[in-house]
Amino acid sequence: MKDCIFCKIVAGKIPANIVLESRDFLAFHDINPIAPVHILIITKTHIRDFNEVSPEMMAGLTSFAQNVAKILGVENSGYRLITNVGDNGGQEVPHLHFHLIGGAKLKWHHLTDTNPRNSL
Ligand code: 5GP
Ligand code: ZN
Repeated sequence: MKDCIFCKIVAGKIPANIVLESRDFLAFHDINPIAPVHILIITKTHIRDFNEVSPEMMAGLTSFAQNVAKILGVENSGYRLITNVGDNGGQEVPHLHFHLIGGAKLKWHHLTDTNPRNSL
């Protein structure tokens, strides 16, 4: 898609530090890492977000993401696989991507200022 930053990376118009590539997916280092290992796994076709992806495409993501974890050496130490969706999800780039984050003990705490107990 024209003007999409991740489509430009797929097309080779913007450089990226690529980790793994397959027919359907591309994995590369995040430009602004939030942990020692921070890889972005994107679809090569322009899919806006998780709401738009097919189960068939997601099936292919399984072994691809597992292989990325192995290449980065975090498959045993542990990692997190996250996709942000839309405004509340904090998605900044509207091209489907999964963050594979690890290489250190990750924090896990309240993700919002809204107290979840108030919505019970
Ligand atoms: P989101 O907030 O959409 O889930 O995550 C977008 C991610 O893409 C961010 O972590 C940001 O650092 C990363 N990013 C944005 N532009 C580029 C780029 O041009 N190259 C790379 N490698 N990462 C990018
Ligand atoms: Zn795109």
